[in-house]
Amino acid sequence: MTMSIRVAHLYGDLMNTYGDIGNILALQFYAKQIGVEVTSDIVSLEEDFKADDYDFVVFGGGQDFEQTVVADDIQSKKAELIKFIEANKPFVAVCGGYQMLGKYYVDAKGQKLPGIEAMNHYTEQQHDHRFIGDVVIENEKNGNKYHGFENHQGITFLGEDEHPLGKVLQGYGNNGQDGTEGAVHKNTVGTYFHGPIMTRNGNFAKYMLFQALQNKYPDTDFTEMKKQVKTYEY
Ligand code: GLN
Repeated sequence: MTMSIRVAHLYGDLMNTYGDIGNILALQFYAKQIGVEVTSDIVSLEEDFKADDYDFVVFGGGQDFEQTVVADDIQSKKAELIKFIEANKPFVAVCGGYQMLGKYYVDAKGQKLPGIEAMNHYTEQQHDHRFIGDVVIENEKNGNKYHGFENHQGITFLGEDEHPLGKVLQGYGNNGQDGTEGAVHKNTVGTYFHGPIMTRNGNFAKYMLFQALQNKYPDTDFTEMKKQVKTYEY
């Protein structure tokens, strides 16, 4: 039996800044090493998202205009997205996508866009300023360093039940104030890392891939397969 992972590329036609689609290519690259097939569909405006149809969601970053369009539409997918997240299925949301999973995002013009409140962070406006540049963080659970590139005007503050993806070693992260970057809730990871995060941080990609596999095939022991996957970091 060939194992497979079905990826929903949420608003992949609108939210795909700095090649965030590379996250799916990275999943395919690592999955191929162990003979796992990864397929993906763009799920966009006025299309149904069904939690049961997918094993992984990737939601990229975007410009403010695209975010206003997505902010309206995503409310219709809110219940199924929350169902997916609460079922422990892996979800990687980058920058604008990360912002939309939270309570709200205040854009550069001061317009407040509602998120889906799948997570409790919220994003405020910076005044005539953006955080741009390379960013390095350390994940406190596994000690891994993750590398990426950030470009955002929004500043994100975590909810009490969220923990960050990492501690900022270089760059700004969530808000440039509290030394946090990204947010984790169950197997959902929000981050400002373009680059994209799973191409530059193979260990992270591998971790997320096996979360997806373990979720879908709970009776399989993946110990040997994990040893077979060679990851690349840069
Ligand atoms: N428009 C959002 C911001 O400026 C997200 C940017 C992005 O996804 N790179 O904060």
